[in-house]
Amino acid sequence: MSDGVRRYTAFADELRRVFGCRVQRVSVDAGFTCPNRDGAAGTGGCIFCGGKGSGSFGIRPELSVADQLLHGKEFLARRYGARKFLAYFQSYSNTYAPPERLRLLYDEALAVPDVAGLIVGTRPDCLPPDVLDLLMEYARKTYFWLELGLQSSLDRTLTLLNRGHDVASFAAAARRCRERGIRLCAHVILGLPGESCEEMLGTAGMLNDLGVDGVKIHHLHVMKDSPLDAMYRQGEVRCLERDDYVGLACDFLERLDPRIVIHRLVGDAPADHLVAPAWTLDKAGVLGAIDGELERRATRQGTMLERVMQ
Ligand code: SF4
Repeated sequence: MSDGVRRYTAFADELRRVFGCRVQRVSVDAGFTCPNRDGAAGTGGCIFCGGKGSGSFGIRPELSVADQLLHGKEFLARRYGARKFLAYFQSYSNTYAPPERLRLLYDEALAVPDVAGLIVGTRPDCLPPDVLDLLMEYARKTYFWLELGLQSSLDRTLTLLNRGHDVASFAAAARRCRERGIRLCAHVILGLPGESCEEMLGTAGMLNDLGVDGVKIHHLHVMKDSPLDAMYRQGEVRCLERDDYVGLACDFLERLDPRIVIHRLVGDAPADHLVAPAWTLDKAGVLGAIDGELERRATRQGTMLERVMQ
């Protein structure tokens, strides 16, 4: 962004536009599990999942939801000067309980001062009609995002990842969210084993067609003690080089509808849980390189779509 122009629709900008101030997510662990771990959909979990429910580190699950938020809020206000916060139900599958229990937990979060909305992460197969109706209520009364793992638009990759659901299950969940006015953010991983660049970029087209509202883009990274860790050590999978990921992320953005909000552009992991690639730890450097590459190409989110329409 050295030319001062953001070349994609960033979540931070969206939050500033909506709230008029700096807003930070505060991750919470509300004690859920995951149907891909407890046997309901599968066992062993997704091969990339490090066992903490995909990405939620530094959380103190022994505290109540309210206390986790108070604790996180204080830290983020001090560090970033944030004035409002979104409670991010991140660990495991945060709709995997009866609606009455979900309501208690979500309400507990919204009752914390300066918590201005909710982000709820879950799986496409954890959204029965009564839960979707509950989420629709929250989507109407507060600032609300539902995050759903897709990872890939290919069923053969989802099988390899041991996701325990298929692409059609994600598409059906996305349609149900749209019908109810629930903002939906999809999780995608670039660099998955066995996928060509064209196949990875095809996921952008699928997200456009489904009308999702947001996307979190990650590079494939290997977490300690995940099934992927063993595969990586045996040489069965490899990770992208940093520059290859930067190019691929730009290609992906160029094919993505500019209406879709980018919640994340690179994977994240603490050093003591990461196996590879080492460049994961330089998140700011990767984001800067993506900005620089888009600037060098003189493109932005959606450029390829505009070219096709001309
Ligand atoms: S669905 Fe999420 S929490 Fe469950 S195994 Fe996969 S990444 Fe982990």
